[in-house]
Amino acid sequence: MPVTITGVEAILTQPGRSRLVIVKVHTSEPGLYGLGCATFTQRVFAVEAAIERHLAPFLIGRDVDRIEEIWQMSMVHGYWRNGPVLNNAISGVDQALWDIKGKRAGMPVYQLLGGMTRQAAAVYVHAEGADRNAVADSARGLVEQGFRHIRVQLGGYGGPGTPQHRPEGAPEGNYFDPREYARATLEMIEHVRSEVGDEIELLHDVHERLAPIDAVRFAKDVEQYRLFFLEDALAPEDIGWFKTIRQQSATPLAMGELFNSPHEWRDLITNRLIDFVRMHVSQMGGLTPARNVAAFAAMYGIRTAWHGPGDTSPVGHAANLHLDVWAPNFGIQEWYRPSELEYEMFPGLPEVRNGYLYPNDRPGLGIDLDVDLARSHPCEEIVEQWTQTRLPDGGPARP
Ligand code: MG
Repeated sequence: MPVTITGVEAILTQPGRSRLVIVKVHTSEPGLYGLGCATFTQRVFAVEAAIERHLAPFLIGRDVDRIEEIWQMSMVHGYWRNGPVLNNAISGVDQALWDIKGKRAGMPVYQLLGGMTRQAAAVYVHAEGADRNAVADSARGLVEQGFRHIRVQLGGYGGPGTPQHRPEGAPEGNYFDPREYARATLEMIEHVRSEVGDEIELLHDVHERLAPIDAVRFAKDVEQYRLFFLEDALAPEDIGWFKTIRQQSATPLAMGELFNSPHEWRDLITNRLIDFVRMHVSQMGGLTPARNVAAFAAMYGIRTAWHGPGDTSPVGHAANLHLDVWAPNFGIQEWYRPSELEYEMFPGLPEVRNGYLYPNDRPGLGIDLDVDLARSHPCEEIVEQWTQTRLPDGGPARP
């Protein structure tokens, strides 16, 4: 008798700034369940409906062991595919099924992938500040805690502050000046490099805030500071420009957190136009496609750097870590330094020591959820502000 899916539940919670979506797959075996991350923080209620109203009825009664078949059928069951919301829902179910398979096997998921190639995953963390001295102070503090890979950002995404030269009557919003951002950020990176020395690896996230030709210049100008990587130098809509960047600089390039579809990453990999794939595993469809992309990228000398901010849930971070300790072409893992509350809410949440993230040896993903505690921190019904991004003249821009 196969073990079957008896229920698929979306659990929404907000232990901190980010609204999270956790999938819990219940099974016909008493006490056996799986957890997955389906977080799309700006659209949590749409993902909840996709899971409970659309995926659950399709999945109930299916054999939990048939992960690949379930993934393939889930991707085409709605006919229209490869988009946000539905991909998040499928990602959560997929991770939960891997969790279940690991529990049934009595093994951590990294064992099912092929076993460890390393004991722990090196992580990078974020240093921020209103000016370059504050960023350097923040970076030094992280180095003292044992981190050796630091992402440096001046102010929020897009730079140090709000430009004052907007026209009369311009609407409220999250203003930035792309060219001022590029100038100030180069000065900041030069300063931080001189402060922390050459031994520490620096990273920077453009967050698609530059016009393509300005991104080309930025990648050239920043080359001398030897970044570990430059992230999202271009928007997904502008990936045709990666070839131009590549021809003009040796700055390592990381891309992919906004990707939904193989159409977006395939040619960047086969043409060796980037150095790190960093898709959001809880968005691209879960562990099943991430495993395939890691193996595919390895053939082209491209490493992994899965997206790991605060709007990936702790369950998603656990899933990332299983890929990290397995993948021969692992590069780096983004890490967000969870709160005490998150460690309490998600028992088994991996821990960092001296710049490395360590998995535990529990079966499955090795992470659990205190559902009562999660439900006592419900998601706020807010209209996101920071993604209402505007250029100096008031025109809308990508966040
Ligand atoms: Mg990013």
